[in-house]
Order: sequence, then C-alpha cells, then structure tokens
Amino acid sequence: MTTSRTVLVTGGNRGIGYAIAEEFVAQGHRVAVTARSGEGPEGTLTVRADVTDAESIDRAFSEIEAELGPVEVVVANAGITRDTLLLRMSEEEFTSVVDTNLTGAFRVVKRASKGMLKARFGRIVLISSVVGLYGSAGQVNYSASKAGLVGMARSLTRELGARNITANVVAPGFIETDMTDALPEAQQAEYRKNIPAGRFATPGEVARVVTWLAGEDAGYVSGAVIPVDGGLGMGH
Ligand code: NDP
Repeated sequence: MTTSRTVLVTGGNRGIGYAIAEEFVAQGHRVAVTARSGEGPEGTLTVRADVTDAESIDRAFSEIEAELGPVEVVVANAGITRDTLLLRMSEEEFTSVVDTNLTGAFRVVKRASKGMLKARFGRIVLISSVVGLYGSAGQVNYSASKAGLVGMARSLTRELGARNITANVVAPGFIETDMTDALPEAQQAEYRKNIPAGRFATPGEVARVVTWLAGEDAGYVSGAVIPVDGGLGMGH
C-alpha cells in the first residue's frame, strides 16, 4: 500500500502543475498547490504564493503545515518563458526568467528542506525542460534557468541524500499546455517533425512520471534527469 504524503506543487492552477496535483490526489495523497490566480484541482488546498517572493512562500508553507502537516514531497513546477534572440534580450528578460524558474525553485526547496530534514524523509522534483540540456535559439534565459535545475538537484542529492531525501529533475519536451499553445501553428508543426514520437505529450504523461519519482519505488533514484519528451532530446 502507498503511504499517504503531504505534497506541494507550485503553479498548480493550470497546465502541467494542475495535472501533477490531480494525479497525486488520485493516488490518495494530501495535496496543496500554490497559485497566483485561480485554483488547483478538486481535492487540493490552494494557497496564494509567488515564487519570486520568499515571504509569500514562507506564509504558504505555514498555511499548508497547519492544514495538512509538514511538506514531504515538493514539486517545483512554476515557470515562465520570455523568448527572444540574444541580441534583443534585455538583462531584465534574462534575470526575471532565472528569478522565477531557478531562484524560485531554490526558495521553495530551501523552505521545504527544513521539514524534510527533521522528518528524515523527502522527495524533491524539479520540473526542467528538454531545452535545458539541448539548447534552444531564442531561449538563452529559459534554457539557462532549466539547466541550472540539474546542478541544483545533483547538489541537493549530495547534500541531503543521507537523510533519505531524493532530488530529481523531470525534463519534459513539448506538452499540450498554454505555454505551447502560444506558439504559432507552423512552428508547432515543425517541432512535431523533430520529435521521434511524432506528437506532443499530454500533461498527464508528465504527471505520472513525477508521482512515480515521489513514490515508494523510486527511493533509490536521486540526481537523475528523467526526460519525458518522446525521444526529442536523446543523449542530452
Ligand atoms: P503554464 O504556462 O501553463 O503554467 C505555468 C504555471 O507557473 C502557472 O500555474 C503559473 O501561475 C505558474 N507561475 C509562473 N510564474 C509564477 C510565479 N512567479 N509564482 C508562482 N507561480 C508562477 O506552463 P506549463 O504548465 O506548460 O509549464 C509548467 C512547467 O513545465 C514550467 O516550469 C515549464 O517551464 C515546464 N515545461 C513546460 C513544457 C511545455 O511544453 N508546456 C515543456 C518543458 C517544460 P499563474 O497562473 O498564476 O501565472
């Protein structure tokens, strides 16, 4: 039987985060999501938090701890893109993406680690992207932030591994969400041609890899980068 855990998913009000939260609920866990707007799926506790603001994260954790108990599984999923070519990219466009995607994950994981160290149990899952290691023209900011998550998970593994805390990266390829809907149709078709699977994935296909990493069977998996990309990034 699966142990019921307290889970936090950042950015759980839509897209991949919503699907991850739904899957954890379906598997019988106590699930909280952070949202700046909207709500998480049915059966979740929605707390307001912005990952660029450490105080709001601290308040969100205190609320979750009071309602559901200490967070045992954290999924750093909140992320943004601000794509443009290098010469047009402002420093603000670079740092704001890093602040949300990379420093945001740091803030959330740091706060979560307090309870995990005390409990001598924790599962940390960082949502990166195939472009973190593959690279992508027009995404110098985004791919740098996503590659940074790999170093973060591996350092967390070395620092916290002996306390029964794992830290892994999930690297999705193209997933059907608002983020990819925003791409022009011609560009979407071009991407599909390069994906060995010949299609984009559903958010649920990412969610079930995340719940597996957080579960009993993955206790000896740490510092890994698990692609969910239909073969797009093979070898990276
Ligand atoms: P969406 O754009 O659909 O959703 C992004 C989520 O992140 C929203 O819940 C959003 O909240 C939240 N978020 C953004 N900024 C902040 C912030 N400062 N504080 C708190 N929450 C924030 O994205 P996806 O579901 O597509 O992507 C989820 C993750 O997966 C991201 O990290 C993304 O980089 C990654 N990914 C996505 C891929 C794809 O093909 N879709 C491919 C590879 C990786 P709000 O609604 O309030 O804006």
